[in-house]
Amino acid sequence: MNHDPSCIFCRIASGQLPSRKVYEDEQLLAFHDIAPWAPVHFLIIPKKHIASLADTTPAAHEALLGRMLALAPGLAREQGVTNGFRTLINTGEDGLQEVPHLHMHVIGGPRPWKKG
Ligand code: ADP
Repeated sequence: MNHDPSCIFCRIASGQLPSRKVYEDEQLLAFHDIAPWAPVHFLIIPKKHIASLADTTPAAHEALLGRMLALAPGLAREQGVTNGFRTLINTGEDGLQEVPHLHMHVIGGPRPWKKG
């Protein structure tokens, strides 16, 4: 499924719900987390609905996953991160994933801050 109308991040990706956008291209969207843990906290998502990292395969998703990770340092720099950041993908129930649409957290900025 490309778009799941019941999925909050699909609705953000299609512009039906608002977000504070960090970056967008044909495949990916990055936007600020609504409940940040740190001075900089944004999410990178595929626009296409993929429920979690557990729903990807190397054959189908290697390039997409690579792009999500490869975008992180430049976007973090653009958001003012100069001293390191965390990248985090929660997967499934035991992985503490709350929103069932694949997303990578990018978290940084001056400490102290802590979660996870
Ligand atoms: P957790 O909440 O435990 O970090 P996830 O890894 O599934 O679980 O993260 C979902 C993230 O999505 C949370 O950090 C939450 O604040 C964020 N979020 C939920 N709804 C929105 C929204 N409408 N806009 C921006 N971020 C959102």
